[in-house]
Amino acid sequence: MDTPHPDALHSDILVIGAGPAGLHAAFYAAWRGLSVRVLEARGEVGGQLSALYPDKRVYDVPGLPGTRAAAVVQQLIRQLDGLKVDVRVNLVARTLERAGDGWRIGTDQGTLTAGAVILAAGLGALLPRAARVPGTDDHPDVRTDLPDPAGLSGRRVLIVGGVPQAARAALELLDAGANVTLTHSRAGFRGDPTSLAQLEEARASGQIEILAPARLLRLTPPGAELEMDGVTRSVGADTVLILGGYLPDLSPIQAWPLDWQGEYVPDSPGGRTPLDGVYVVGDLAQSGGDFKLISVAFAQAAVAANHAAHHVRPGLKVRPGHSSEKR
Ligand SMILES: Cc1cc2nc3c(=O)[nH]c(=O)nc-3n(C[C@H](O)[C@H](O)[C@H](O)COP(=O)(O)OP(=O)(O)OC[C@H]3O[C@@H](n4cnc5c(N)ncnc54)[C@H](O)[C@@H]3O)c2cc1C
Repeated sequence: MDTPHPDALHSDILVIGAGPAGLHAAFYAAWRGLSVRVLEARGEVGGQLSALYPDKRVYDVPGLPGTRAAAVVQQLIRQLDGLKVDVRVNLVARTLERAGDGWRIGTDQGTLTAGAVILAAGLGALLPRAARVPGTDDHPDVRTDLPDPAGLSGRRVLIVGGVPQAARAALELLDAGANVTLTHSRAGFRGDPTSLAQLEEARASGQIEILAPARLLRLTPPGAELEMDGVTRSVGADTVLILGGYLPDLSPIQAWPLDWQGEYVPDSPGGRTPLDGVYVVGDLAQSGGDFKLISVAFAQAAVAANHAAHHVRPGLKVRPGHSSEKR
């Protein structure tokens, strides 16, 4: 038998992916009394809901009719309050190997071990689109994901993009004391109505400059050149944030021996995969097929997390009982 790496951080359950499937699986396993760690490739949790459509209303999540996706994620996070769930963001799971009775997972920043793994990787790691703008290599500070706003206080920041993260970054950076210019190739920006109203207020009061529609021509060491209304303008920027959304990437886990069927991992009852102690839930699970839905992900997560709990602690029944009957 293998001995776990001495420096590895161990948890009963390791969930890979913090979308709705992963967050609900984490809730259930922790609620059964197990220690749970969640790895998420992005800088924030919520999976597709926070990366791809935080501003859209979702109508078919049970109990939360007509709720914006970002607010659905907030409720999932709230449900973890008081439970033993350790969420690690900006960490991509890349390797999986046996470690004693459990598993060892390799990331770019070391290894972790767990008694069971719940794979909730959805369509893949949601990684920021690369910046494809002439001069990117010449500018000293070009970023493609949401930054820590405090780190950019006092700096001139040019934000490029119309995705909801662009409007959000503009407001957060303004709050943090950055000098913000926002530009997009179209006139409109995406975001929830409150954020868009705040953006408009900030523009009207001169706190933020919005250049849209405008074409970003190139980055230059002190900033960027844009074309707006047929006129070329220079904008000073110490930092350029090019926010073009996120693309899913399954490649970090596709070499794992899971009998892949295209972009799916085959699952049998309880979310079992061909690897003992490794479960699959959500969009990645083959049984859901074309039903890529949050409600399906929740159900799969509840079932798999309880099977995983029993796998790690055979003394625990698979069936969780009713939450309403427990404190
Ligand atoms: C525009 C749009 C609108 C939608 N509207 C609806 C709707 O109205 N109703 C509905 O029910 N569904 C809707 N969906 C589908 C729904 O969002 C998905 O079914 C749901 O997000 C699946 O959840 P998941 O947790 O399985 O995967 P995801 O939400 O994809 O989450 C997976 C997470 O795993 C992370 N990850 C992947 N690989 C790794 C790795 N190797 N290491 C670490 N982290 C990793 C990813 O970064 C991601 O955060 C919509 C989808 C889109 C794109």
